[in-house]
Amino acid sequence: MASKASRWADTAEDAAHEANRKREKEEKKRLRAAEKARKLEAERQAAEARKRAEVEYHEDDRPAKRRKTTPPGDGDANASKKKKDEPAKLLKFQAPPVTPSRSVDNYDKLNDIEEGAYGWVARAKEIATGKVVALKRLKVDPTDRSGLPVTGLREIQILKDSSHRNIVELKEVVTGKPTSGIESIFLVLEFVEHDVKTILEDMPEPFLASEVKTLLWQLAAGVAYLHDNWILHRDLKTSNLLLNNRGQLKIADFGMARYVGDPPPKLTQLVVTLWYRAPELLLGATTYGRAVDMWSVGCIFGELLTREPLLQGKNEVEEITKIFELCGMPTDETWPGFRRLPNSRALRIPRSSSSSNPLATGSVIRAKFPLLTKAGCDLLNGLLSLDPESRPSAKDMLAHEYFIQDPKPKQEAMFPTFPSKGAQERRRRRDTPNAPGRGQKAAEFGSVDFSGIFTGRERELKGGGFQLRVA
Ligand code: ADP
Repeated sequence: MASKASRWADTAEDAAHEANRKREKEEKKRLRAAEKARKLEAERQAAEARKRAEVEYHEDDRPAKRRKTTPPGDGDANASKKKKDEPAKLLKFQAPPVTPSRSVDNYDKLNDIEEGAYGWVARAKEIATGKVVALKRLKVDPTDRSGLPVTGLREIQILKDSSHRNIVELKEVVTGKPTSGIESIFLVLEFVEHDVKTILEDMPEPFLASEVKTLLWQLAAGVAYLHDNWILHRDLKTSNLLLNNRGQLKIADFGMARYVGDPPPKLTQLVVTLWYRAPELLLGATTYGRAVDMWSVGCIFGELLTREPLLQGKNEVEEITKIFELCGMPTDETWPGFRRLPNSRALRIPRSSSSSNPLATGSVIRAKFPLLTKAGCDLLNGLLSLDPESRPSAKDMLAHEYFIQDPKPKQEAMFPTFPSKGAQERRRRRDTPNAPGRGQKAAEFGSVDFSGIFTGRERELKGGGFQLRVA
């Protein structure tokens, strides 16, 4: 039993990792203590400064004079006395005006666009100008009395800070009558006629190769802008990509988005809708970065080509299984360090090298997308690299051969138009999964045996059909 466990745990690499972790922990402790001491010192200095300032105030509480930094000479004594009697000249700073949010009553609702258990989006018209907009009510948990959830605040903050042709524009934030004692908050967004998911579901023919390129290029441009500005979207999927009648794609729904630093902080692994969720998240990573969005971009690329979501797992175990079927089993060569991720210990993954695993070469991707050019396969394969470090950045992607080779991306103005559902019809929320909610618990993998996954090449290329044994 012990020897079995040691197969995964007792390698020299793991021991080094453990030692490293301990060192990092010690270092963090030391930094925390130093930070505490620094804060105490700052507080002490601030208290002293306050005391000094109090002494310098006149009885009528007006500031007396600025403290001299050079010792006054003889002649200065009188001057300083004279100055003491004059009212001090204070610098005045203009405080930014605080304008309360306008009311949602400035808008007339035209029709619902999306209505579900949590979210609500409608098309509306600003009464004063007649301009058509989209109104999105922010989700508020009526049982939570602390007000707007942090996700709502982040969505507002990030949309307010963002300005890019491929990011949906936030025009203003308005408030409505309180529901359940909590004020309703609405985002007023530019109205965009379609979302890509609805188009894919309704179009009789798939997009042309040149059209896929236009959409994908714009998606990469929007993601590059976000990543350049330290924003992770964390819920990229076709229903969150809007498309207007001029062929312009706009990334929407920043409910999961957040700012990150470098190195990124510890983050929740429960992000991204299951079908678009990167393998490192499924394996429980809490330190992750821009590559999680690039994985979703890869899934969207596949979906644009086939009109079907690429990896439709019913749960986390099925999702990771589908990923391995498509991209190959991870090995220490193709994804160094994957065994250290919390959930990977539950997966009994054979310790084979990449050369004995034909799937790691991307042959399944080539077989699944026979019409995709070599450059296209190369890009898709890169985006769907199991190892997040191997995925191209959004900037790298924009410079990829795929966009240079023929057929060239179609000009946006030449993009086909589609009847807009959002402009006319009320829709119920579709049956696609959503991003996980806050407070939801991450799935813990039972023991999953992958040792029988690669038995026949033919079966591999058809994409599995093997039995999962979940303990
Ligand atoms: P939620 O966070 O509730 O999922 P989203 O922002 O994803 O809300 O919006 C849900 C749907 O509403 C989108 O898939 C799209 O169809 C529609 N939608 C969202 N924003 C707009 C917009 N600015 N213009 C038109 N339709 C929109």
